[in-house]
Order: sequence, then structure tokens, then C-alpha cells
Amino acid sequence: MANKVLRVLITGAAGRMGRAVRAEIEAATAFRLAGCVDFRPGPGVETPDAFEYLLASADAAVDFSTPEAACEFAAVCARHRKPFVTGTTGFSPKQTAALKAAGRKAPVFAAPNMSPAVNLTFALAALAAKRLKNFDIHIHEAHHAAKRDAPSGTALRYAERIALARGGDLPPITSARAGDIIGDHTVLFAGPHERVEIAHRAHSRALFAAGALKAAAWAAGRKPGFYDYFDLLELRDLLK
Ligand code: NAD
Repeated sequence: MANKVLRVLITGAAGRMGRAVRAEIEAATAFRLAGCVDFRPGPGVETPDAFEYLLASADAAVDFSTPEAACEFAAVCARHRKPFVTGTTGFSPKQTAALKAAGRKAPVFAAPNMSPAVNLTFALAALAAKRLKNFDIHIHEAHHAAKRDAPSGTALRYAERIALARGGDLPPITSARAGDIIGDHTVLFAGPHERVEIAHRAHSRALFAAGALKAAAWAAGRKPGFYDYFDLLELRDLLK
């Protein structure tokens, strides 16, 4: 898809992240807005039942809505063989299975955190967990008061990567919901006489919006599959 302008349809377009994705598209030359859908009204925002119609003139859909809505949009994208990128979090195992099923017909890219740097720290945390065998691990995350899910999808992804690398149970996670915090995560490795912390602080939602668009550009033209940032950044080999 190099040098081609990517036409993007945004779902959850009236939300915090949807608006950030739109601002990012409007400021870029590599992307063009193919439409916006949301239940909440907004300028240029259509109701969700316009999704399938708008998808006809889109190259990819970028979603930041709810798990239920994301699964429905993914199924429509699968029918039309169009890439679907979702940053939505809080998927149940059944909903994740539905996304994976859509990925058998179209590229589906799902990442609980669209920051490439955060995805790199997933690998760093896994590496540390593997090597620092006798260190206790604790994950702490903080987000704005309106965030629906807890713990965050990002904290869960750290925990999953750590458990996979070290074996055993998921490490404990604590969550704070307060004010307008965009997203803070700290993975603490506490050993005898020392501790290591892998921490990330998001300063702006533009970070996640740009990351989601990068994912859309990467997913467009790819074979059907269920992808995440470990595929885009080729991080799987790093952990072998
Ligand atoms: P938000 O509540 O501000 O926005 C969600 C929007 O989705 C709302 O406007 C809502 O009306 C809309 N919506 C709900 N059902 C819909 C449907 N059926 N069709 C179309 N629109 C629908 O929430 P937010 O802060 O923008 O976050 C959205 C999701 O993205 C959450 O799951 C959040 O955890 C996640 N998130 C992910 C990342 C990441 O990097 N992956 C970053 C920030 C937030």
C-alpha cells in the first residue's frame, strides 16, 4: 500500500479516541476520512447502521468503541474482506474468538495499546520476567475516571506476556481510576536489595491514534489473519 492514500472509516468516532483518530487523519496526507460512525451525534458522524454502506468506499476501518460493537464491525469487515483495526479493550474470551474468526476472512489487527513503544515494553517485560527468576512482579496502572474496564487491556497484556515467558500464574495487577490520566503503566520487578521498573506514561491520545493508523496502513493489503503489534514490529523472534 506504499504511496497510496488510505481511506479510513472510524467507528466510535464521537468518543475520546475516535476524535483523536479523526484529528490525526485530518492532519495527515497519507490518510483520508472515509466516514465516521457512532451512536453519539457529532459533525459528520453517522449512525452505526451506515457502517456497511460507508465501508464500500473505505480501505480500512479503525475502531475505538465497545467490545460488542467491535465484534459486529469486524464481522462486516470480514464479509467484505476489508482490514479491521481495533484498539478497543475489555474483550471476553468469546468476543476474542469472534475477532479471530473474522481474521480468517480479512486482516484483523487488535491491540490493547496502539503505542509502538508500549508494545516494545511488552517484550522487555517478558525478557525481564524470564531472566529475573526470583524477583516478585507487580503491575500497576492508572487511567481517567471514565474508563470502563479494569484492569486495563494493556496491564493484562503485560501480565499475559510475563506469564508466558516465566510460566505460572498471571502477576497481580492494581488499578487506579482518577481524573484525566490518559494511561500510566508500571511493571515492578522487586528482588533482594534492588528493584527494576518498566514504566510508560502516555502524554496524549494522539499517540494511540497515530499507532492505530500505522496499524491500518500495515494491515491493508495483508493476508487474512489475526494480528497485533508483535507482528508489525516483528517482536516475536526477540523472545525466542
Ligand atoms: P469513549 O467512551 O470516549 O468512546 C467510545 C465511543 O464508542 C462512544 O462515543 C460511543 O458512543 C461509541 N459506541 C458505542 N457503541 C457503538 C456502536 N455500536 N457503534 C458505533 N459507536 C459506538 O471511549 P474511549 O476513551 O474513546 O475508548 C474507547 C475504547 O478504546 C475503550 O475500550 C478503551 O479502553 C480503548 N482504548 C484503547 C487504546 C489503545 O491504544 N488500544 C487507547 C485508548 C483507549
